[in-house]
Amino acid sequence: MLTKRDVDVAGNVKRVVDQIACAVDRAGIDAGSVKLLAVTKTVGAEQITEALEAGITCLGENRVQEGMAKRSELGDRVFEFHLIGPLQKNKVNKAVNCFDWIETVDSVELAQRIDRACEVQGKRLPVLVQVNLAKEPTKSGVAEEGLAGLVEQARAMRHLSVRGLMTIPPYCENPEDARPFFRRLKKLLMGLNAKQSVESAMRELSMGMSHDFPVAIEEGATIVRIGTAIFGERPSL
Ligand SMILES: *Cc1c(COP(=O)(O)O)cnc(C)c1O
Repeated sequence: MLTKRDVDVAGNVKRVVDQIACAVDRAGIDAGSVKLLAVTKTVGAEQITEALEAGITCLGENRVQEGMAKRSELGDRVFEFHLIGPLQKNKVNKAVNCFDWIETVDSVELAQRIDRACEVQGKRLPVLVQVNLAKEPTKSGVAEEGLAGLVEQARAMRHLSVRGLMTIPPYCENPEDARPFFRRLKKLLMGLNAKQSVESAMRELSMGMSHDFPVAIEEGATIVRIGTAIFGERPSL
């Protein structure tokens, strides 16, 4: 069993960056158009620092409390911080204070609460709407049927900047089996954008994790969320 200390974080970052470059090449898109989010759940400050020093600029965390602890542990290091886990209503103020992006908006009520917290804290936050494509009861996210209505209402909120969609597809042993879900999310985004002017089009698709991000990029991902491939296996919780 490898312990965290044996993991070559810098080497892993380099390998993932190379794999992203290859996928971007295959997809025929701009090299700069995919953002690599290093997912830091259960990872200590030492390893996160190693990733930042290897060139990582964006971090993703699932829990508000853990995110706040990491912000303070990492002191004055600069990074863009994304909340990628479900957000409880009573933690919205803290989340708005701690994170630069919230990727998990999945109800009008949550959007309203975030909007209000942003107003109080004097900021406008980029957000993504999380979609539960397979309607898995264990996962958060809005069902497809509710997506257009939620996006329309969230876009009307003055302190939110709705940038696109996020999804976690059902776990598939073979990453090819996740491809239809990625393709579907892209299609949903294009459908939403069809009613918008070019300037107000949403462009972000946060999809793809350690085992399937090359496929996600081929299908149009603009944000990939990578934990295990950078920091090694997590202890099972
Ligand atoms: C943990 C997590 C990831 C990263 O998963 P890996 O398989 O370790 O890359 C990505 N997105 C979300 C929402 C997560 O919770």
